[in-house]
Amino acid sequence: MNKMQEPTLEKEKRGTFDFINSIGIILIHLAPIALIWTGATLFDWILCFSLYFVRMFFVTAGYHRYFSHRTFKTSRWFQFILAFFAETSAQKGVLWWAAHHREHHRYSDQPQDPHSAKLYGFWYSHIGWIVSSDFIQANYNIIGDFSKYKELRWLDKNYLFPPFFLATLITFVGGWVNGGTFLSMFTDGWTTLLAGFFLSTVLLYHGTFSINSLMHRIGFQRYQTGDESRNSLWLALITLGEGWHNNHHYYQSTVRQGFYWWEIDITYYVLKVLSWVGIVWDLKGVPAHVRNARSLEEAKKMAKNNEIE
Ligand SMILES: [Zn+2]
Ligand SMILES: [Zn+2]
Repeated sequence: MNKMQEPTLEKEKRGTFDFINSIGIILIHLAPIALIWTGATLFDWILCFSLYFVRMFFVTAGYHRYFSHRTFKTSRWFQFILAFFAETSAQKGVLWWAAHHREHHRYSDQPQDPHSAKLYGFWYSHIGWIVSSDFIQANYNIIGDFSKYKELRWLDKNYLFPPFFLATLITFVGGWVNGGTFLSMFTDGWTTLLAGFFLSTVLLYHGTFSINSLMHRIGFQRYQTGDESRNSLWLALITLGEGWHNNHHYYQSTVRQGFYWWEIDITYYVLKVLSWVGIVWDLKGVPAHVRNARSLEEAKKMAKNNEIE
């Protein structure tokens, strides 16, 4: 065999820390420490918890299942809503996020994978690839189906706007609830900002990042995918269904990540309800022969046999 035709297995040089690129994420991690001195109200804690799960839904339904994989269809206005609220997670632009995720599947656990835990280590796959200079730019060519929309290009470029908008809004609401007047945001809204926005965002970061790190390490493999992706119930619970990551690597075109009724997938249930009222449609399912096989080759054989019978 000609040497040129062999796949490259040489790891890329990765991991040069970039301070300017990382200053935002560092400050977001430091801010909640102030809660030790300020404390927080019950309302602040409820908001912290709620905004974790609401925004996790937009990360998984929006960034992941819609923009990265196109597993369902929706209108142009709801597409914008998905992108806007996904970006309130402060995980950069929608096109940047989806472009890197498509690269992850294209090169899963190969040297070109942006965040392979197998090749580049746990911490690099968890957060290192984000705070390094390696992936500041995205390959916009592979997201042309969405970068053609000017409102998405605007959101991608101005990715700081949605988190700033949310932070300001909840400081105002928190001030009002905690202090009782419209101007209380300047005196009583700070604890809501610290718990409801900053702490909630840090938890959301690590919930999301665990999909790239822990989900290629912990759990079981039902399907032979040629990578290290795993299924895990407890990770599925904290990520609203993303813990069925081996299912997802096996068959990415379905909106469902839990393939069986006992594989809890909250994001899918919410999308199902949204489809009943016509907000989303064409939810792609998992064909039975794909679900029952253990590899794509086996699924192809099963489909062929069924045709013959
Ligand atoms: Zn994916
Ligand atoms: Zn993965």
